[in-house]
Order: sequence, then C-alpha cells, then structure tokens
Amino acid sequence: MGKLYVVGIGPGGLEHMTAKAKEAIEKSEVIVGYTKYIDFIEPLIKDKEIVSTGMKGEVERCEKALEIAKEKVVSIVSTGDAGIYGMAGLILEMKKDEEVEIIPGITASSSAASVLGSPLMHDNCNISLSDLMTPYELIKKRVELASEGDFVISLYNPRSHGRPHYLRECIDIIKKYRKGNTPVGVVKNALRDGQEISLFTLENFDDSIVDMFSIVIVGNSGSYIKDGKFVTPRGYSL
Ligand code: SAH
Repeated sequence: MGKLYVVGIGPGGLEHMTAKAKEAIEKSEVIVGYTKYIDFIEPLIKDKEIVSTGMKGEVERCEKALEIAKEKVVSIVSTGDAGIYGMAGLILEMKKDEEVEIIPGITASSSAASVLGSPLMHDNCNISLSDLMTPYELIKKRVELASEGDFVISLYNPRSHGRPHYLRECIDIIKKYRKGNTPVGVVKNALRDGQEISLFTLENFDDSIVDMFSIVIVGNSGSYIKDGKFVTPRGYSL
C-alpha cells in the first residue's frame, strides 16, 4: 500500500518550505506536479520519478497521483499552501481508499505580507479573481461584502490576459467603502527569484504592473503606511 502526500511547498525557495514538506518529498518515490513548481524543489528530487503536466491538467494530475498512491509513496505538490487554491480539495473529492496526508505550506498572502510589512494583522480574507470555476458576479459580490465588512483583502490570481479589467473593477468596488489613502500592496514573486514590491494607495493604484505571479493586498479602514511599510493595527493602545 502506498501513500499520497499533498504538499504545499511555500512560495519557492527551499528555505521557506517546512521541514515536514521536505521530509515528505524526500520520502516519496514519485513527484507529481506542474513543471514550474517541480523546478522550485529540484535539489530535493534527485533520482525520483517525475510526473509533470501542464497548468490546466489538474483533474488528470490528481487522478494520476491517486493511481500511483495505490502502490508507491508519492507527493503531489502545490506552491504556497496546498489547501488554498491548491490540490488538497480536489484530491479529497476524488479519493477512494488511498491514504492521503496534507502538509501545509506558507501561502502567498503570508509571504507577501512579510515583505510588505504587517498588512494582515487584523481580520482578513482571500479572494481569487479567477473566473475559471467561479462566476464573475459571485467574485464581485464577495469583494463587495468583504469591503463592507472592513476585511483586509488579499486578491489571488489578480490579473490575466483573458480578464485584464477585473482587478480595476474590483478595486473600484472596494473604493466605495474605503478612503483613497488606504494602502494597496502588490508583490510579484514573493520570496522567490524576481521578487518585486510595490506600494500604492487606492487613489493612485496602477493595475498595469499586476500579473498572475502577483498578489494584491488591500488594507482595511485602519491600515496605513509607516516608513515604507504597510501596517494594519491590531488595536493596542499606544
Ligand atoms: N496555493 C497557492 C495559491 C495558488 S493560486 C498559495 O497558497 O499561495 C495562484 C496565485 O497565487 C497567483 O496568481 C498569485 O496571485 C498567487 N501567488 C502564488 N505564489 C505567489 C508568490 N510567490 N508571490 C506572489 N503571488 C503568488
């Protein structure tokens, strides 16, 4: 009987991967994942068998991983956390009697937050702007309600060629509820090669620099910029 590890490898560099994630990959005979993610963990791969598919083959990738897990120890890898827009959900939906263990990783909002300052210090939520599996109307409703609820908002999958205007439209929704000087942080390739950090306000936000390697974090009504860092107060009296 084999086993399937569903591993969140963190943002990229090996130093940001948990010891448990490294151990799972080291124990695995086979690694399943998207080519680019497998490159991130190359030093751990050695002579392991690699099963790699393109970006949109998620169902196929999970089927393959579950099939291998009947006999071998296998890891299916996601960047960040496997349970946040990763492979963990699909694996649990598809599994039968295979043994599965989910290993968490540092998600993009945490990685980006660490380089921006402390934007996630208070109640916050993640919203993906990808409409591949979620209707855009529902995405906009969630942005609207999160704004009304004064959550700090992390926007995953923020801007792609197929839907370049969604981010701008969602920022416009947030603007109805927040002041123009609310900080907006954009981090491209957080904690990996090619990292770029940009700090704006809702008023002067430039969405043209944002792509699918970026995450956008919008502050709540108390967030501010101090010495170039994005701060969301927890509420301590100083
Ligand atoms: N499971 C991943 C998210 C996958 S969705 C996680 O937990 O982080 C893919 C989106 O995540 C990208 O479009 C981008 O918005 C964000 N993302 C993932 N890694 C990132 C990184 N290192 N820097 C900035 N954004 C990242």
